[in-house]
Amino acid sequence: MPNYKSGLEFALEQDKLDPLRKYREQFHIPKNKTGEDLIYLCGNSLGLQPKSTKEYINQELEDWANLGVEGHTEAKNPWLPYHEFLTESMAKLVGAKPLEVVVMNTLTANLHFMMVSFYKPTPKRYKILIEADAFPSDKYAVESQLRHHGYDDKEGLILWKAREGEELANYDDLEAILKAHGDEIALVMIGGVNYYTGQYFDLKRIADLGHSYGCMVGFDCAHGAGNVQLNLHESGADFAVWCTYKYLNSGPGSLSGCFVHEKHAHDKTLNRFTGWWSHNKQTRFNMRHEFDVLPGAEGWQLSNPPILSMAAIKASLDIFNEVGIEALTKKSRLLTGYFEFLISSLNNQDIKIITPLEDSQRGCQLSIQVKNADKTLHNKLTEAGVISDWREPDVIRCAPVPLYNSFEDVYNMVEKLKVCLND
Ligand SMILES: *Cc1c(COP(=O)(O)O)cnc(C)c1O
Repeated sequence: MPNYKSGLEFALEQDKLDPLRKYREQFHIPKNKTGEDLIYLCGNSLGLQPKSTKEYINQELEDWANLGVEGHTEAKNPWLPYHEFLTESMAKLVGAKPLEVVVMNTLTANLHFMMVSFYKPTPKRYKILIEADAFPSDKYAVESQLRHHGYDDKEGLILWKAREGEELANYDDLEAILKAHGDEIALVMIGGVNYYTGQYFDLKRIADLGHSYGCMVGFDCAHGAGNVQLNLHESGADFAVWCTYKYLNSGPGSLSGCFVHEKHAHDKTLNRFTGWWSHNKQTRFNMRHEFDVLPGAEGWQLSNPPILSMAAIKASLDIFNEVGIEALTKKSRLLTGYFEFLISSLNNQDIKIITPLEDSQRGCQLSIQVKNADKTLHNKLTEAGVISDWREPDVIRCAPVPLYNSFEDVYNMVEKLKVCLND
């Protein structure tokens, strides 16, 4: 562990040494009523707006105004292949090959489309395994898939639960579940970084384990993309999905990323829902052709995509490309480690960090469990200018995002937390 020190001086010193410090200025930081920066620790929920986003979107608005339909081919960034401008950066960011990645649709929609292809229940093997505190949308999605195929959504859902009195899921328990039920499970679908605890799972370990029992394995990386170094290709997962409005700063409700492993790239027999955008680019506009599916993740697209939203994603990915996930991870570990150090130094029995303490098992989020589920602490923090979020039943989630949060932010947050706890 680095040699962290208490006191504002240390924070200011670290900010001075931070090679990424200039990026904070490239984002709009929300302000309080008197015009001071709020302490924004909610990038895990909605990432901040890069100042460049407006230009990227304006470019498309202008081309639309000036060119109308010709913009499909004549825009500065032609709209027909626009999604391709995102593929390489996105693939790099999530540790995948360009063939394996596409930006399309929204997250829960993609999760469903992936399950159309990779949840293939049979009378003997139809169950779905998820982590017990999976994000509600994911749980609803898999339950509805079970019902869609005629199965009972309670009986068909297997939960990987933390042990009594513990918060984090344990791999031994996952192994035990698979040992007992592996041959009944069609799909293992886990949140790559759990949204509640911040636990970053070992994707390869889970994928290998699931595959060894003949299950398909998918990950929802909504809390992983842009936060941790995902190695999706290496993990061997069959598919993954994530959104771009959390750590990827692409604006509320923006599009989703989707990964389909190379091993499925040329499998034309996989069942899937299709549209004209999954069809061969050369003959797409002949309009009367037999369907001819594109290889790779692109073959799961349906519609011509919303360019304005993609422009925001491009603005963000250009920043990530410049910084690199390695440099971000390095700062992230220092910054989150510092946050953990300061909270632990408070020695307060009313709060407890439930996120794993090992760097390799978490991203930048720390989930602070509050004794007696006392939400007033969160409310007081908000009043004091700290933007974090409260998740039922008893957790305050805070994410010092390495791209735009500073050591000073973290220091100030904990100072305010101290005041609120003693209030
Ligand atoms: C944020 C998030 C969602 C939200 O899904 P949308 O379809 O984008 O509304 C779903 N699942 C997980 C794990 C998330 O973190």
